[in-house]
Amino acid sequence: MTGASEPLDGASELYLSEQRFQAIYDSVNDGIIIQDLESGSMLDVNRRLCEWLGFTQQELLSMDLGDLGLGIWPYTRDVAIEWAMKAIEGVPQTFEWLCPAKGGQLVWLEVNMRRTPIGGVDRLLITAGNITGRKRVEMEATARLKRAEAQNAVSLALAGVGPDYEAALRLITHHLSASLGDLCILDLVAEDGLLHTAVVAQSYIGGEPFVPDIKNLAPMATGVLGPGQVLGPGRVAGTGEAMRIEQAPWQDLREWLPVDYHAYLEHFRAHSLLIVPIRTEGSTIGTITMVKGGSSRAYSVEDQAALQNLGDRAALTITNARLYAENLKQAQELKQANQELERRVEERTAELAQVNAKLQEMAMQDGLTGLFNRRQFDVTLENEVRRARRTGGYLTLLLGDVDYFKRYNDRYGHMAGDACLQAVAQVMKDVFRRADDLPARYGGEEFAVIIPGATPEQAAFSAEMFRKAMEARAIPHEASDVSEVVTISIGLATSQVTPETSPAWYIARADEGLYISKANGRNRVSMAD
Ligand code: GH3
Ligand code: MG
Ligand code: MG
Repeated sequence: MTGASEPLDGASELYLSEQRFQAIYDSVNDGIIIQDLESGSMLDVNRRLCEWLGFTQQELLSMDLGDLGLGIWPYTRDVAIEWAMKAIEGVPQTFEWLCPAKGGQLVWLEVNMRRTPIGGVDRLLITAGNITGRKRVEMEATARLKRAEAQNAVSLALAGVGPDYEAALRLITHHLSASLGDLCILDLVAEDGLLHTAVVAQSYIGGEPFVPDIKNLAPMATGVLGPGQVLGPGRVAGTGEAMRIEQAPWQDLREWLPVDYHAYLEHFRAHSLLIVPIRTEGSTIGTITMVKGGSSRAYSVEDQAALQNLGDRAALTITNARLYAENLKQAQELKQANQELERRVEERTAELAQVNAKLQEMAMQDGLTGLFNRRQFDVTLENEVRRARRTGGYLTLLLGDVDYFKRYNDRYGHMAGDACLQAVAQVMKDVFRRADDLPARYGGEEFAVIIPGATPEQAAFSAEMFRKAMEARAIPHEASDVSEVVTISIGLATSQVTPETSPAWYIARADEGLYISKANGRNRVSMAD
């Protein structure tokens, strides 16, 4: 009810309507900007927008639309101009926009842009609803989801990774970066006591990829000192206590991170830092550092708890992988030691076998001539007699004695005598080649041959062959009465073996034959009657 009876004149009416308009314009629940199409400069902003952003009307009017973005894609000047151009072309635009208020806090706006005639001139009318509260709730829900995702992803990754611990670390950082965002750095305490960066992973949608070359990063000192003296990861490694910074200007975060990351902090307007220790059995073996920036919400206490949980799992993985590697190394060393031992045993076995063979030979062989020795002769004669006794077969024994050997020694010397005996042995080996024949050194310059299975004719023939071969060997013997060369006298005992025949019988008979040969002029074969 106006209550006024007289009508208002035209000017008053207009004034009143303008006042009404202004009241509504300033108090609606939307921010309003009126912008000139040509220059793009703001012609008017309403009070609501000023309240939200903390700027005076004059301050806002001296800015342009581009200044009202976070400055990080997609909240940049270029994107703002793109939206505006489309609206100017006649297509109304609606989008969400993040802009920093004067105090630094972020304000989420739902913006509508349309081209509208105002006072007869086409203008760009921008209205904006404040959706900061709704966005906060949304982002918190998203963060919860992301934390759960990180837990799941890391659990799955760790379950499948096996003993390859570097792969495990890469997976952990990758998933943390993707789920909790944005930058994830995993540092491990090395033997030098310093923190060495092991893996860096980064996710930033729409941003430039930024991962420093970890090989070139300087190791960090660990300790409890403050910013600039000991870096964040070093401090967390030193104290074992997590560290969280929410909503700080990126400049402040520089104090806690290596210089290699400063460009990152600035580029992405980092505002939040979270570092947790990787603890195992009471000691800190490394740290996980996470950095967030841009439009994302700061790390919360819940994020910290989730990250610490994953850090503890990483600790288990790292410890297990290290134990595995240690075991593997020990197993390899053991295997090597075993191989060395086996080699030595083999070597030693071969040596022993050689020595045994040598001993065996020594037990059976005569050292000078290499023929079987007297001991082996005795054993063999015994065996052959026993064998022939069973089968009733033939057995022959030859006994040979070098003629005038004493004179040979006297004439040519003992060494030449030895060489002569070796020559006799060689002749015997050449003549008696059958596997069953056993030529032996009977003693001194006396030799014996056991010939199993030969008939008396064959035996006599073999004996004669031996004598002739000795002669044919033509070793000069100037002191001999029977020849110009070394000769041999042989006694032959050959018989079909009967139960009564003994080794002694053979020896006696052959010896008798030898005596006959000597008595009858030497260099001959004789058999006792
Ligand atoms: P005979 O024709 O009657 O058999 O005359 P002999 O001189 O051969 O006979 P005797 O039995 O008198 O001499 C054998 C010699 O053989 C004596 C010994 O010094 C020599 N003799 C024995 N064994 C060896 C040896 O291993 N090496 C050398 N060089 N001489 C040996
Ligand atoms: Mg003799
Ligand atoms: Mg002799």
